[in-house]
Amino acid sequence: MPSVAAPALEELVGPDGPGSPGDFAGLLQAITIAVQAIALQVNKGALGGSLGAAGTLNVQGEAQARLDVLSNEIMIAETQWGGYLAGMVSEELATFYPVPTRFRRGQYLLVFDPLDGSSNIDANIPTGTIFSILRTPNPGAEPALADFLQPGTEQVCAGFALYGPATMLILTTGSGVDGYTLDRELGTFILTHPQIRIPEHTSEFAINTSNERFWEPPVRRYVAECLVGRAGPRERDFNMRWVASLVAETFRILTRGGVFLYPADSKDARSAGRLRLLYECSPISFIVEQAGGSASTGRGRVLDVQPGALHQRIPFIFGSSAEVDRIERYHREDLSGSAEDFSLFNNRSLFRV
Ligand code: MN
Ligand code: MN
Repeated sequence: MPSVAAPALEELVGPDGPGSPGDFAGLLQAITIAVQAIALQVNKGALGGSLGAAGTLNVQGEAQARLDVLSNEIMIAETQWGGYLAGMVSEELATFYPVPTRFRRGQYLLVFDPLDGSSNIDANIPTGTIFSILRTPNPGAEPALADFLQPGTEQVCAGFALYGPATMLILTTGSGVDGYTLDRELGTFILTHPQIRIPEHTSEFAINTSNERFWEPPVRRYVAECLVGRAGPRERDFNMRWVASLVAETFRILTRGGVFLYPADSKDARSAGRLRLLYECSPISFIVEQAGGSASTGRGRVLDVQPGALHQRIPFIFGSSAEVDRIERYHREDLSGSAEDFSLFNNRSLFRV
């Protein structure tokens, strides 16, 4: 397992006790309160009066749901005052947010997607909150933009809440992945899924096939070989899954294995990939690796990518290691011109263009 900058036990409990700038447990507690507050709003559905579009666009030009805006406000309100954080980055904010000077500034940076999958919220499809915790280079000081541009290997902690039939919290601090389920009567998360491991042998893949005409040859080859099933080089049949909610896809893969692809494609020449490095791909990759899986751009490990911008998008392929390794190999063979099999299966593919 490649190393990441996980916290020492001393840091987990806070070297100077509760409320100190290094009080990592206090920060986690604040995040769990925030996600419980978001879960309450999400679970109310139409009764909460918060469904529908906000009528505004975020910095990436995407329509904001009212629950996107609300979830963002809850995350900031619950985590900014405790003295843990120096600043934050959110999908819903154009640039970084320094903790206001009226609060004490701590030694961590929080990067988050307040409501992942929110475009499906009106259809009652599971959503979630994804977050990543980094150390700030200058504790106590106002952070600079460059402070947030740390590769995923520098994460102290990554997690996501899943607002599904049950509300769950999935967490890693670099020593495996634990899953917690919200007990609504107790108002707390209970450890229900200790040390989650991604099953190694799998026959499920998840990709948005409506983009097939924009894919690169290695991805076409992989999917074509899955589709041809027992008669092809994989010698077994596959199932396809596509929820279009990253948190839901991730938890399914943590539970049942499989592979997820939102690869580079030619649909939008301005950006390679769809998902955002800092607050989607990086935390999910840390969790997936800690659960024994792999996460790749197709050409390299996601956690090694040096971010160049807060809202940077990258190709994202993750899941069971054997499948991710295979897809990386297809990318290498495509470059070296040694992908002999592919033309055969492309011709036999249902998805031939
Ligand atoms: Mn998202
Ligand atoms: Mn979102």
